[in-house]
Amino acid sequence: MTAEQRRPRPERRLTGQSASPGLAAGRLVVDRRAALAERVAGTPAEERAALDAALAAASERIADLAGDADAMGGEILEFQLALLEDSALSDPAYTMIDDGAPAPDAWASAIDAQIDDYEAAGDDYFRARADDLRDLKDRVLARLADAEDGDRVPGPDSILVAADLTPSRFLEIDWIRCLGAAVASGSASSHVAMLARARGVPLVVGLDGDIAGLETGAPALLDAVDGTLTVDPEAESEHAFAGRLAADEAARAEQAAYLDRPAATAAGEAVAVLINVDDPALLDAVDPGHCDGIGLTRTEFLFYDRDGRERDGRDRDGRDRDGRGGVDGLPDEETQYRAYARLVAWAEGRPVTVRTLDAGGDKPLPGLTAEDEADPFLGLRGLRLSLARPDVFKVQLRALARAAVEGPLKIMVPMVTAPEEMAEAAALLDAAVSELEAEGVAARRPELGMMVEVPAAALSVDRFDAAFFSIGSNDLVQYVTAAGRGNRHVARVYDPRHPAVLELIARVASHGRVAGVEVSLCGDMAGDPELLGLLLDAGLRTVSVAPSALARTKAAIAAHGGGTG
Ligand code: PEP
Ligand code: MG
Repeated sequence: MTAEQRRPRPERRLTGQSASPGLAAGRLVVDRRAALAERVAGTPAEERAALDAALAAASERIADLAGDADAMGGEILEFQLALLEDSALSDPAYTMIDDGAPAPDAWASAIDAQIDDYEAAGDDYFRARADDLRDLKDRVLARLADAEDGDRVPGPDSILVAADLTPSRFLEIDWIRCLGAAVASGSASSHVAMLARARGVPLVVGLDGDIAGLETGAPALLDAVDGTLTVDPEAESEHAFAGRLAADEAARAEQAAYLDRPAATAAGEAVAVLINVDDPALLDAVDPGHCDGIGLTRTEFLFYDRDGRERDGRDRDGRDRDGRGGVDGLPDEETQYRAYARLVAWAEGRPVTVRTLDAGGDKPLPGLTAEDEADPFLGLRGLRLSLARPDVFKVQLRALARAAVEGPLKIMVPMVTAPEEMAEAAALLDAAVSELEAEGVAARRPELGMMVEVPAAALSVDRFDAAFFSIGSNDLVQYVTAAGRGNRHVARVYDPRHPAVLELIARVASHGRVAGVEVSLCGDMAGDPELLGLLLDAGLRTVSVAPSALARTKAAIAAHGGGTG
């Protein structure tokens, strides 16, 4: 149903939690992919008929669009139409249906095979064709889910509503056109929330109420500060929201004035503000002069393609297109070296902290992380996994030692519990550097520091031999409060203000001052202006935040009176 055809409805307000602050006024796009999961497959004959109908509906829609498009758009759509009508694309899907596959699975795997072939050609022209195929894949899947085309791709000024939003789906969306999202699942500490904050995309999670009953095209106000979505707003709500949007814009303009000066408290005390990098592509939009370097690089994101597939075409479940699992797709030394060297070049002489692979917990890497853990957050993750897989760890350490020749790169290891683990990591780093030297490859031993995110490490921080410490408050809070960072049922218990959390942060900061070792904090607490004051009061003078939080963090520091320093 188009926006013009809708009859006005009474205002409804759905509530959730803010996961990435911001405001947006637009029209809803209701993602009905979840409906696919609930779809009941029929007999092969019925599934054939369903695919026939979906292909016909998609063709009809594309032909309509092609009629209205300009020359270039028309050409792309004609090409898509030709692809849809090509039996080389649909025949394998029909064969799979005859073998018992449901139509959506058959269509997705037939078209994925073609996408991989186009991608493998490694040529810009063919990559663009792969995008056309992805578009067709979604269009036909939407039809199989009995949804409108409009439910598929968020258009300009849209607000996405979905039952769930995976990191790969998040990365597919053009967040310039789509202004924000509200999802029923998830929590403010999940990885999608982190991606949204890094990009400044307003996001509400844990949305309650009847999402399935919402309509694409309905006008809506997304308040990702208070965590609400107002659908079919009354004129009065719209007016009040417009006032807040204007005030928000003015505040942003004011904060932006702090961007190109070094951060300092109102008392004039300097505070270093670095950035967290989870997707190097985002750096193109960041001026290195606006920060003091990179305080955290989450390298696990280098292990996935943008569409959520591992580099050799495996998906996040670790299966290649024939359904086999494995770790062969991990990026090799050269690929990693280039990625790290690019960060160093971007930073123009500022420090770049690269964290070694933090797979496990909520970041499984199929084929590498253990699959039989009942409690992955307490399992073989972070440095524990790297030490268990020195073959994989060594590739990363070699690449990092090579990139360290290009500038001030530092290595940080995650999830450290005991000093012996640090000693083991240091020995492996030394061995990697010696090996490179023996091979005549240019390398330098970077400083080796650690994250403090396990309570045992925070409590015994003085026992660790580390060149620097960075507090991972996202995990520290979950381990101290025994409340999962992605679990919305215990979101209230997951409290960064808990005195036990603040005491541990103060303890680590104090150790840093006494021992003359740098202590920073790179968890999400630092990017929240309401929590930043507590961190400064706890004695921290270095923080690392999402790029989109730089201006407001610097402004919040300037407004802070001083602290215990
Ligand atoms: C943290 O735990 O605070 C952190 C910075 O790391 P991640 O969010 O990647 O676990
Ligand atoms: Mg962590």
